[in-house]
Amino acid sequence: MEGGRLLAAIIDHAIDGIITIDNRGNVESINPAALELFGYNAEEVIGHNVSMLMPEPDRGNHDSYIHNYQTTGHKKIIGIGREVMGLKKSGKTFPFRLAVSEVWLKDKNIFTGFIHDLSREKAAEDMLKQHAAELEHKVSERTRDLISLVSELEKAKAEVSKSLEKEIELNQLKSRFVSMASHEFRTPLSSVQLSASLIEKYADRPDDKASIIKHTNKIKGAVQLLTSILNDFLSLEKLEAGIVVMNKQYINLVELAEEITEEMQLICKKNQHIVYQHTGEIGHFSLDTNLLKNALVNLISNAIKYSGEDTLIEFTTCIDDKGCSISVKDNGIGIPKEDQVHLFEPFFRAHNTGNIPGTGLGLNIVKRYIELMEGKMEFVSELHKGTSFKVSFDKI
Ligand code: ATP
Ligand code: MG
Repeated sequence: MEGGRLLAAIIDHAIDGIITIDNRGNVESINPAALELFGYNAEEVIGHNVSMLMPEPDRGNHDSYIHNYQTTGHKKIIGIGREVMGLKKSGKTFPFRLAVSEVWLKDKNIFTGFIHDLSREKAAEDMLKQHAAELEHKVSERTRDLISLVSELEKAKAEVSKSLEKEIELNQLKSRFVSMASHEFRTPLSSVQLSASLIEKYADRPDDKASIIKHTNKIKGAVQLLTSILNDFLSLEKLEAGIVVMNKQYINLVELAEEITEEMQLICKKNQHIVYQHTGEIGHFSLDTNLLKNALVNLISNAIKYSGEDTLIEFTTCIDDKGCSISVKDNGIGIPKEDQVHLFEPFFRAHNTGNIPGTGLGLNIVKRYIELMEGKMEFVSELHKGTSFKVSFDKI
């Protein structure tokens, strides 16, 4: 009996709930821990079907669980244990771990259920899950922020490097101008100085008026050269700043070409002649007079500069139903093959220019003017044989 009392004491003080049922599912005994868990008094449970302690669907199925076991011997929970839901008297449900064992007495078998409340573990688990979900949410939010931050940073970086590139380009252009100017200005400036001091000398000799005129002309020429270099640079600055405006109008191309021929003939070398010819429709074409004149003057002045005395410069214009093309061809020094790719870069001069003056800005400006007018520019050149530049515009 000592052993029986000890067992009863153990069951009464157990932390887990212990319930025994008979083979019809009726509760035979329930310990205080189980009563506490389910919120019942012993008399409310004992003798009643244990399914009263379960929510649906177990509540309705419990009898068939026992029946199935008894007919098939197939154990679904006995000796296995699993997590199930319990139903309190208050109607609230809670999770617990159920372990069932079967005891054989003389004439009957009893099932004992050990009930270990999992409410706190489940609550902690749920909290953990919630925390994990919140954390995941935060991480994905931060990741999104980070991605957008990175892409903004990349955009800003690209903008900065673009403006830096432009700045570097502009600085290079300016420093190239300074070195070019210091080189190119020296010749006309020293010729101005020389002519000025000679004029001073001739001033005492009123009979030598011709020498004075010769040197004032030299000064004028030098000043003109300096002005044209400065004008080129100003044109380039305007192009860089995007303030060169294009103003297309129907112009009489032939008239303009004749006017340019006349003007440029004045600065030709000895026996150098510009031969102008027009083919196709005599007509008007939509172009910007100022930009076109500037471009053609540049091309013809190159032809004059880079070819010798006693040569012809062929200047032709052509208008047909496709559009208009203009070419300037000389029989001069030509452009070395290896230099041709760089021809339109600002300040670039070919290696065969020797002491022919120039800044290397002209063609860069010409190309940009032609492109502003939506035209195309091409050239062919052969060393010692000559060069031909062609500009063409499509009819709109
Ligand atoms: P400027 O700025 O005074 O015109 P430039 O004549 O040297 O100086 P560009 O007109 O840009 O500069 O020409 C660039 C280079 O192309 C020239 O330095 C020259 O080497 C070559 N070039 C241009 N036109 C001809 C040509 N008709 N014949 C031979 N070389 C030419
Ligand atoms: Mg030139």
